[in-house]
Parts: sequence; C-alpha cells; structure tokens
Amino acid sequence: MIMNKKICPKCHRQYTEIENYCTKCGIALEKLPNICSEKKTDMCIHRVYDKDDIYCAYCGSLTTYAKEQLETQSK
Ligand SMILES: [Zn+2]
Ligand SMILES: [Zn+2]
Repeated sequence: MIMNKKICPKCHRQYTEIENYCTKCGIALEKLPNICSEKKTDMCIHRVYDKDDIYCAYCGSLTTYAKEQLETQSK
C-alpha cells in the first residue's frame, strides 16, 4: 500500500512520495506532518506530532513517521 506523504499547501489535496507538484494548482507539494497513522478517533485527525513522537496520544497507534521508519527498517 502506498501511503500519501505529501500535501498541496493550497488545496490540501494529498499525494504520494514520488509526486512533486499539485495537479490542480501546479505548485510544489509539501511533506505531510507527523500524524496518527490509524486515525481511530476524531481527535487524531486534528493532532500534529513532533518528528520523534512514535505513538498517537488518543488511540495508541503509530504515528506516520514512526510507521515509515519501521517499514524501511524491515525491508
Ligand atoms: Zn493544489
Ligand atoms: Zn490516533
């Protein structure tokens, strides 16, 4: 499964890591912030974590950065 890792700062549409420009706005994409990877509660969606945070404070799931690190390590 390819995770969306980039976001358009203007229209907030999400893109995968290999894409660099928004297809609607034509501007450079930004890296997504570290957020809950599962989003099991409504609170998860609004919370942005530090780069070195590993678990979501609301549901205990891994953050997207931590999950990404685990996936690269297991390869
Ligand atoms: Zn856009
Ligand atoms: Zn969560």
